[in-house]
Amino acid sequence: MYFPDLGTETMIASGLKVRAVGWLSSAYPFDEGPVDDVVLAKLETLVADGWIHAASAGPHLCELCSKVRSASNVLVPSADFLYVAPAMVVHYIRDHGYGPPGAFQRAVLRCPAPPSDAYFAALDPFLDVLSTTPEELAGAARSHRERLSERAKQAARPKGMFWD
Ligand SMILES: [Zn+2]
Repeated sequence: MYFPDLGTETMIASGLKVRAVGWLSSAYPFDEGPVDDVVLAKLETLVADGWIHAASAGPHLCELCSKVRSASNVLVPSADFLYVAPAMVVHYIRDHGYGPPGAFQRAVLRCPAPPSDAYFAALDPFLDVLSTTPEELAGAARSHRERLSERAKQAARPKGMFWD
C-alpha cells in the first residue's frame, strides 16, 4: 500500500496532524540516503517496544525484494506531528538504502523511549487521530507495560526445560 512521504494519509491513521513515512511501493521512486546508526537503533526500539492503537490491515510483503514480511506499524510522536510508518521501514533503510525525511529522523531522535510516561505523554496530543480517550490511553499504557514485562520474562526463562 503506497502513501507518499509526509502525506496526511496512511493505512492506519490519517488527518492534518498525521505524516506518513516509509509506505514504499515498487511503483514509485523513493528517497535514498544514509541514516545515522543512532536513529536506526532508536527506530528499532520504537518498532519493538512502541504502542500502536490499531491492528494492521494484514501483513505486507516488501515489494522491493519480496523477501520480508511484516504486519506491524510504528508511531513516532513529535511536537507538531504524529509520524506513522510501517515497521518495515527498518528493512527499507537497512536493505534498500531508503532515506526517510529529515524531520522524521529528528522526531525519532527526540522521541522518549517506550513505554515511559514521557512516551505516552508525547502521544497525548494525538488522541483524536488515534480515536482514543485519555482514559483509554492510560489503560493502554498499563496493559502495554504488562505485555512488555511478560515478554522480557519469557525471553529470560531458560530454554528447553521440561516444564516449558
Ligand atoms: Zn525488501
